[in-house]
Amino acid sequence: MATFRFQALSEALSRTPKAVEYPASKASMYFASNVFTQDVMREYLPSDAYKSLLRTINEGAPLERQLASQVASAMKDWALTKGVTHYTHWFQPLTGSTAEKHDSFFTPISDGRAIERFDGDNLIQQEPDASSFPNGGIRNTFEARGYTAWDPTSPAFIISGTLCIPTIFIAYTGEALDFKMPLLKALNAIDKAATDVCQYFEKDVAKVNATLGWEQEYFLIDKALFYARPDIMMTGRALVGHNPAKGQQLDDHYFGSIPDRVSAFMREYEIESHKLGIPVTTRHNEVAPNQFECAPMFEETNLANDHNLLLMDLMEKIARKHDLRVLLHEKPFSSLNGSGKHNNWSLSTNTGINLLAPGKNPKTNLRFLTFFVNTIKAIHDNADIIRASIASAGNDHRLGANEAPPAIVSVFIGSQLTQMLDNLEKSVKAGKMTPEDKTELKLSIGKIPQILLDNTDRNRTSPFAFTGNKFEFRAVGSSANCGSAMIALNVIVAKQLMLFKKAVDARIDKGEKKDEAILKELQKLIKESKKIRFEGNGYGEEWVQEAKKRGLSNLKDTPRALAVMKDKKTIDLFNELGVLSPIEMEARHEIELENYILKLQIESRVLGDLAQNHIIPTAIKYQNTIIENIKGMNEIFGKDAKKMASTQYKIIESLSFHLNELKKFCDLMLEERKKANKLEDAEQKAFAYCDNVKPYFQEIKYHSDKLELLIEDELWPLPKLRELLFTK
Ligand code: ADP
Ligand code: MG
Repeated sequence: MATFRFQALSEALSRTPKAVEYPASKASMYFASNVFTQDVMREYLPSDAYKSLLRTINEGAPLERQLASQVASAMKDWALTKGVTHYTHWFQPLTGSTAEKHDSFFTPISDGRAIERFDGDNLIQQEPDASSFPNGGIRNTFEARGYTAWDPTSPAFIISGTLCIPTIFIAYTGEALDFKMPLLKALNAIDKAATDVCQYFEKDVAKVNATLGWEQEYFLIDKALFYARPDIMMTGRALVGHNPAKGQQLDDHYFGSIPDRVSAFMREYEIESHKLGIPVTTRHNEVAPNQFECAPMFEETNLANDHNLLLMDLMEKIARKHDLRVLLHEKPFSSLNGSGKHNNWSLSTNTGINLLAPGKNPKTNLRFLTFFVNTIKAIHDNADIIRASIASAGNDHRLGANEAPPAIVSVFIGSQLTQMLDNLEKSVKAGKMTPEDKTELKLSIGKIPQILLDNTDRNRTSPFAFTGNKFEFRAVGSSANCGSAMIALNVIVAKQLMLFKKAVDARIDKGEKKDEAILKELQKLIKESKKIRFEGNGYGEEWVQEAKKRGLSNLKDTPRALAVMKDKKTIDLFNELGVLSPIEMEARHEIELENYILKLQIESRVLGDLAQNHIIPTAIKYQNTIIENIKGMNEIFGKDAKKMASTQYKIIESLSFHLNELKKFCDLMLEERKKANKLEDAEQKAFAYCDNVKPYFQEIKYHSDKLELLIEDELWPLPKLRELLFTK
């Protein structure tokens, strides 16, 4: 009897919503109360020290040792008022999640006394063992140890009685072992390049921040059901399971009412998010059953990314309190929509201008067009880099699966802007432009309406869509660190802006007027990047054909998508912009491949176990009961029994057929896995897993699902998908 399954079900069904402790005050009162904000700094630091720290934060001025000690002491004093006992450097290793190494403030000194100690050195630097985090061979070539170093641009915060200090994570030899360090460098590159281009339009712009507003999708399932499914517990997704009779086709979940248990969970993580200064605002159901989404107000990219990682962490912790588990996997259930993390991205000046918002007059619209067109050109020239930045084993199930954006990178801009670009392409005259030409152009540019906001957003099938005043990169995976996508995007746009500046300056040097030079250069970019623009249905087979004709890449799996990291063009680009050295790029390629291999290896093992230990024995047990039944029929009815038990015979035959097929494919998979494991080279191994091991997953699932349909419900050991998805 499948007792574990039924026990889990009855546990799940008997739950009631957990009480949430509501803070006594309004959200605005406790917002960021667990963050070492500038207000707190001002309160706890001497005013000179406060001013120096602001210079470090805002202008990247070096952090003097004495200042570090003062800041550490202020942080400690503040943290102690909040009952904090430990501190940790909080960092983002390339595993994709975050890591912490906790140390106590408590320090025994002589005479059996103790004090609370946290000094400048503890603040600035810590030494986790780098060799236990992925380092893609850097370990072999270089010094094994690494250290974490404070990133003063992200504020420290308190979680569960621990002071967390956001840090970068680097090898002793200086190579980045995390996402934060290259992200900071990429943000620096886009700041510089965009600020330079801004000088054509606004001389007073001194800094440009890339902004990020993420939207996080996730599934929730009951804790007991989670633990009754070895596949979900170990890999985050259901490797087997017949589609439920009802899936998402009724669309009755989207914007439907949120179940009470889930509401309580959401309420609590929102309160905790707000205490950490994460500006979470919206939440709603997503398309699939038990799928949800939350989104904050956008922020500067480095901070926004820290906040996303914190939120994912908080969600997992708080879900446990509510006897739920969060699935951040990109595709937990093959028959339902997967989960993504839309990355809304724009550029914002220190003077408060959103550079991707259409303006009110020809001048501001020319500025808008400049950043808009350069972004499109950057995507056109570097589509493969963008594709690689979101590649993962989980996201492979989602991209191109007729629900998520396709693996083909394209840009959607809406009909009005398409018309605008077509118009510019035609009407910028070759040779010297007359004043009349210019006036006419300016008039037409002035016509970009500000109502774009409502008009552009609705092509949900595009991986990279302009949505009125920002681009929305929709192909990012739900479990990903946004850093990867944001490093790639900001690097390629920075490079494109540098090229643009050079080209326009050259024209001006030759005597063209500034506006004319900009317009001509934009015209050229519009022509050159045309093939990346696509307004139609990104899910259709026609687009696959059309994209092929246009020469666009369609890289369907991770090993193929990552190959661009080996191209000289890519290596040179990241090196030139000072974001990743060739060695760091090589290491990252290797780490990504290793992550991919490990994920597939685990899935393959779990699938083998499920088949051998759960499904095959259950099928045999059921077959035995039928055999017993037939024996009894024979006893009672003699030679008539065979005809009378024809159904039983058919079931036995079907069971045998699927059992044998299941076993056959498990054996074949195992053989391929063994071969793959023997390969030394990470890329070859990843391809072997992708092309030779993974195809068996489908076969095994097919026969397992057939058995699920054949076997008596009582005997089936694993919670069925309908139970996972519809148990409220
Ligand atoms: P949806 O995509 O679900 O329809 P929205 O279009 O309202 O929802 O998405 C809004 C998201 O875009 C929010 O996370 C918001 O913070 C973000 N966003 C809005 N403006 C910007 C901007 N200038 N830069 C980055 N993100 C932005
Ligand atoms: Mg969105």
